[in-house]
Amino acid sequence: MGAAQDLSILKDAFSTLDVREYGDVLQCMRCGFCLPTCPTYRTDGVETQSPRGRVAMIKAVVDGRMDPTEEFSEHMYHCLDCRNCHTVCPAGVKAGERVLEARHRIEEHRPQGVVKRLLLEYAVRDQRRLSRLLAPARLYQRAGVQALVRKYDLLKAVSAGLSHLEAIMPEIPPRPLTESIPEEIPADGKEKGRVGFFLGCAMNLLYPEASRATAWLLSRAGYTVVTPKAQQCCGAPNIEEGERRVYGEMAENNVDLFLGKRVDFVVTDCAACGNELKSYGKHLGGRKRNSRYAGAFSEKVRDVSEFLSRALGPEVPFGPLEEDACFHDPCHLCHAQGITTPPRELLRRVPGLRLSEVPDAGQCCGSAGVYNITHADRSMKILAAKVEAIGKTGAHAVVSSNPGCLLQLEYAKRRFRTDWEVVHISTILRRSLARREDKGGSE
Ligand code: SF4
Ligand code: SF4
Repeated sequence: MGAAQDLSILKDAFSTLDVREYGDVLQCMRCGFCLPTCPTYRTDGVETQSPRGRVAMIKAVVDGRMDPTEEFSEHMYHCLDCRNCHTVCPAGVKAGERVLEARHRIEEHRPQGVVKRLLLEYAVRDQRRLSRLLAPARLYQRAGVQALVRKYDLLKAVSAGLSHLEAIMPEIPPRPLTESIPEEIPADGKEKGRVGFFLGCAMNLLYPEASRATAWLLSRAGYTVVTPKAQQCCGAPNIEEGERRVYGEMAENNVDLFLGKRVDFVVTDCAACGNELKSYGKHLGGRKRNSRYAGAFSEKVRDVSEFLSRALGPEVPFGPLEEDACFHDPCHLCHAQGITTPPRELLRRVPGLRLSEVPDAGQCCGSAGVYNITHADRSMKILAAKVEAIGKTGAHAVVSSNPGCLLQLEYAKRRFRTDWEVVHISTILRRSLARREDKGGSE
């Protein structure tokens, strides 16, 4: 969020919106179908924390019946952008997307804080910069300071916020995947095509082995895997925080880079990245550069499960894994991209793996970018409901495909003392295939 200030100047920014831009706001018929699905309405039970309430507030500001005050701005940041409301709305209102547009209009009219600018205008442009920013945290963990802080709960007396921040900090691997993954990995066997691997920032830095598994699976499926070193952040964090200038520059770089590599598909193992990459055609539409290329790029983008469920044919034998598992649907996979079946199809191909459905599967886990930091109390309530739902499945392996969800569910393990293994879908699929191949395909 940007620095607080009088936002009265925003009146003009919102009054210039026209019906085309805010068309679906006008379609809201106030039926209320979206209310029970919205995580913030579930936790708070008030209209202003619902999709319908958010849409009504935006319309009131556009109509000039309400001032775009700091309070209005805060309401726009209470939304998790989980898109559950998009899935259920019979009128096609996309409240989550409208909230992001409102944030953009707010942020481009006020000065931005130093930390936000450092992260969204400088660090995200280069994965090496992001990795260097994590160096103090790596040292803090490797030197054993974190273990002491956690053992004696040293930060609790200092600040509840700092203590929470420390508690959710994940284990940071020593090296990001970009340092070791080759720019081109040949197809295993006869080449079926070329795949560009979009390596998201969080996957690269925090889950390098899961992404290594993704690259291995893509090659095993018969594709040459191209991972361009010069790729930049997909821009999802910028869009979430209302920043669109650097977003546009990074998106154009990624479009040019991958199209220049002449790949047939662009695959990512991060649901949030996948949704953003698929949105380039839409988000770059207003920029000077021809958005046709962005549209062509977006059409090539596939989530890893979407791609592998077709690319790993029946000739690729999965090995047995005796496991009780469930799949946690990332919001940006199920609601934003409409993908629910492919990950389940893949997991059901693993012999011995018993897949259970999480009750209320489409509910958010409360991670939502930095929501678990900026809105910690509500995020933890949402997480507690998710933990209870997963607990009902009796699963030991909690599988997902978005780094934000994996981090939140790993934190849930510590906070609620569950004995899950939280695992990326690529990791478990690679484990299954490797087991079969280690045994010479004899099982
Ligand atoms: S479901 Fe759609 S139309 Fe109904 S209240 Fe919610 S946003 Fe409005
Ligand atoms: S995107 Fe999620 S949190 Fe935001 S209004 Fe829709 S359902 Fe509620």
